[in-house]
Amino acid sequence: MIRVHVNDPLEKEAIEMLKAKPQLNVTCEHLEKEKLLAMIPEIEVLIVRSATKVTADVIERGTKLRLICRAGVGLDNIDVETAQKRGIKVLNTPGASAISVAELTFGLMLAAARHIARGTLDLKNGIWTKKDLEGVELFGKTLGIIGIGTIGREVAKRAIVFGMNVVAYDPYVQRFEGVRIVNLDELYAVSDFITLHVPLTKETKHLINAESIAKMKDGVIIVNTSRGGVIDEAALYDALVKRKVYAAALDVFEVEPPNDELRKKLLQLPYIVATPHIGASTIEAQTRVAKELLQRLFEELKIS
Ligand code: NAD
Repeated sequence: MIRVHVNDPLEKEAIEMLKAKPQLNVTCEHLEKEKLLAMIPEIEVLIVRSATKVTADVIERGTKLRLICRAGVGLDNIDVETAQKRGIKVLNTPGASAISVAELTFGLMLAAARHIARGTLDLKNGIWTKKDLEGVELFGKTLGIIGIGTIGREVAKRAIVFGMNVVAYDPYVQRFEGVRIVNLDELYAVSDFITLHVPLTKETKHLINAESIAKMKDGVIIVNTSRGGVIDEAALYDALVKRKVYAAALDVFEVEPPNDELRKKLLQLPYIVATPHIGASTIEAQTRVAKELLQRLFEELKIS
């Protein structure tokens, strides 16, 4: 029997489907690092979402490990290089949550432009701030998309329907219908809204920093549903305080949960709309992620 361990929560139906396969011996429990290190030598297939960090030491102790499955997109919680060196395959589910993330991006963009979160909070506190909450329309504005891959494209399609002009920067994409591909400096210069949809890599770490913010239009709105580390949050904080950046809408943070001093300070600003990394947290996305992951896993293990 193939030993499978699920270390992060997965859809109930997916667990049942895994357990129903007579070829698999499945355990599901979130083990913290030390316990995972102790158990990993027995495991052949490790399934995680984003909470488990599959670091080099975990992989190296996994002498029987042949597959690491990430239920989701980003592989930044897995040391893919070490896995590849050890001949361990890494599977993920690209695309399964793209629509959910794109829809949240729009929700955040609208919330930032129209002060939806602040209006809600004020009303809950019994304050009528109607005259303070004048916002801006999306219609006729320019949206700059950094990274026009699976999610970036879904955002672009929706922005076009909203009557926005869409420009994008992506060193690996030459064209996408309805979108003008530009260089980064031009994107910064022309965009009223900037949304990030890149992986977190050496090139994208702190891509949005004091220098890049200085190149942006005054009053730009920045949305990030990709990875926290793409924005230098100290520089964003300064730009929000100086009102160079009108508002920011964040689903992801360099430190999650964002409870250190810098992030607490950032979240207290009235021009911030924020959600706790819920881009892929919809019923539809999670069902799709689980279905795609199991399909790929069963194909890989040649189980019907
Ligand atoms: P993708 O791989 O389909 O697209 C990423 C795009 O970024 C690609 O087109 C790539 O060419 C481009 N890119 C790479 N380096 C770049 C750079 N230096 N500058 C500009 N573009 C660059 O990935 P995706 O599925 O669209 O996911 C995008 C991001 O969203 C990832 O960081 C992923 O982890 C994140 N994500 C977040 C959530 C969430 O819950 N908030 C859920 C799913 C995915």
